[in-house]
Amino acid sequence: MEPTKSPPSGSQSASGKTYQGNCFCGAVQFTVTGEPAGMGYCHCESCRAWSAGPVNAFTLWHPQAVRVTKGADNIGTYNKTEKSYRKWCKTCGGHIFTDHPGMGLIDVYAAVIPDLPYRPGIHVNYQESRLPIKDGLPKMKDMPKEMGGSGVVIAE
Ligand SMILES: [Zn+2]
Ligand SMILES: [Zn+2]
Repeated sequence: MEPTKSPPSGSQSASGKTYQGNCFCGAVQFTVTGEPAGMGYCHCESCRAWSAGPVNAFTLWHPQAVRVTKGADNIGTYNKTEKSYRKWCKTCGGHIFTDHPGMGLIDVYAAVIPDLPYRPGIHVNYQESRLPIKDGLPKMKDMPKEMGGSGVVIAE
């Protein structure tokens, strides 16, 4: 057995690959390690209103997989509800991630971890969609059952 070393960026270790992420200006830097718990697109009104985009490409991680490596005190937080604590860089305003304490997961925006192979598996909150996407992936009316939703799948 090799002695345990902390893995450099992009390296393979027992806990999986580590990917670098940063905000728009780079003042905030972080890493995610291993495999995300889920990847997909959210069409909900909250994601659209906060991101000012038509759809949110999410990757969900267990909190221990996400590590802020630079600029932790430069992260702003806003929570409209207890479900979502939205984080952004105080310098550039770039969005970083959203903490979902109830789900025990952090949504790291796919756009801020460009090296992670993004493999979306699902669309959620599709009943609220303003940008229908015909990619053949399952379209959940709201959320999967295991995340407290109806689990109902609707047409593209
Ligand atoms: Zn920034
Ligand atoms: Zn959403």
